[in-house]
Amino acid sequence: MWKRAMSLPPWPAPKLPRRTGRAVLLLERMERLRAAQRALSAAKEELARGITIETGKPLTESQGEVAAVIAKIDFAIDDAREYLTDRNTAGGQHPALVRQCPLGPAGVIGPFNFPLHLGHGANVAYLLAGNPVIYKPSPFAANVAAHYGEVMAPHFPRDVFQVVQGSGDEGEELCLDPRVRAVCFTGSVRVGRTLAQKLAGDFSKSLALELGGNNALIVCADADLDNAARAAADGACLTAGQRCNATSRVIVEKKVAADFLPRFLAALQNYEPGDPLRAETRLGPLISAAAVERYEKLCDTLHGSWLLSGKVELFVAGKRGHYVRPAAIQRTDDSHADAEAFVPVVSVYLADDLDHAVRLHSATPFGLTASIFTRSEATFRRLGARLEVGNLYANLPTTFSPSTLPFGGWRDSGNGRPGGRGFIRFTTREQAVQFTGFE
Ligand code: NAD
Repeated sequence: MWKRAMSLPPWPAPKLPRRTGRAVLLLERMERLRAAQRALSAAKEELARGITIETGKPLTESQGEVAAVIAKIDFAIDDAREYLTDRNTAGGQHPALVRQCPLGPAGVIGPFNFPLHLGHGANVAYLLAGNPVIYKPSPFAANVAAHYGEVMAPHFPRDVFQVVQGSGDEGEELCLDPRVRAVCFTGSVRVGRTLAQKLAGDFSKSLALELGGNNALIVCADADLDNAARAAADGACLTAGQRCNATSRVIVEKKVAADFLPRFLAALQNYEPGDPLRAETRLGPLISAAAVERYEKLCDTLHGSWLLSGKVELFVAGKRGHYVRPAAIQRTDDSHADAEAFVPVVSVYLADDLDHAVRLHSATPFGLTASIFTRSEATFRRLGARLEVGNLYANLPTTFSPSTLPFGGWRDSGNGRPGGRGFIRFTTREQAVQFTGFE
């Protein structure tokens, strides 16, 4: 089905570099997106329920995701105003301008945990810049993504925007197709690396990778321990730990460990598994049996000892699902830093001092988010400068990522094309135009 779309020229077809002409086209795209935004708003409750039913995400979180989808269109339009307009420039001998031109058909691949928001952020950016888009969501959220497609697609010319379904094989076929000129992949490091390797020869294809994390929250001795405990538990348990920016590691300075840990464990125990469709539920089920298996493996105490032992529960309130309780394990070394957890299991490390905390932090190949809890700005600045992450926080959960900011990963967490605010810069290529000799 998507093959049809890729034979089309970029939408709308590129015109000669006349400022007014291009501005009108951009305005038309903005208007179409505004109409799509109104349709998304009208469907918001159904879309939120759809996310919860398919992925098990608590309804309040799904409602938050749909609200972010709607708001994203405002941010993308602001970004388009900032980045997509042609710039007149002194070209030397002749008048000149620099144009932001579409890349061509874009393939957007989404993960299961934010099945609408993450793909949608890329979709609207590529569309605004004049690229046709083919969006392949996760098979774990195929129905709600299809519903999203039904709401969005009528607002665009035929074949300019499509949602297609498929597994990894179809996703790969889409990404590797030579007619697709831009790929935005959000998902695991394993798949991201495979795509980067397979696309290495096609060097003019634009590739944006938003990958996993193994994020740490560092508790300094002077921290507000209640705040830190709450933030660490929220970061570990939101979306049942299935967030790229989840708190998977807590590194606490030894001298406050005895005060911090009971607070942290109590905060974790506030996350009681329940029916995700109920408004009061904060911890829904994991996505699959494979995720439960990963949870069980991580709970293996070979390299540590229980602080809070987790538990798998197949039934909650009479409903079958992959429910688990949050777990915390004190690790005796820097083990469990190399792989992403993606379940609510937290590895806790005791640091002799802040230098040791930095060493423990850096034991991971990932670089997505990190948070430092301290009352001292100087400590935050000194420590923060040594953490290789794309998103750094003081006294906030590692999951704090407002749509108003870029969001990207360093090291194994991405290839430096931050999604979120400003992503639109990566949906175009620049053309320098000089002109003379017109009558
Ligand atoms: P995944 O890598 O298994 O799948 C992601 C998507 O890629 C799915 O649509 C899947 O069908 C598709 N896919 C699988 N194999 C493919 C291939 N060879 N070629 C092209 N597409 C392929 O990830 P998931 O389990 O759906 O999502 C969880 C992962 O996503 C975690 O690692 C998480 O950290 C990451 N994630 C990152 C961000 C971020 O912004 N950095 C945000 C959310 C999730």
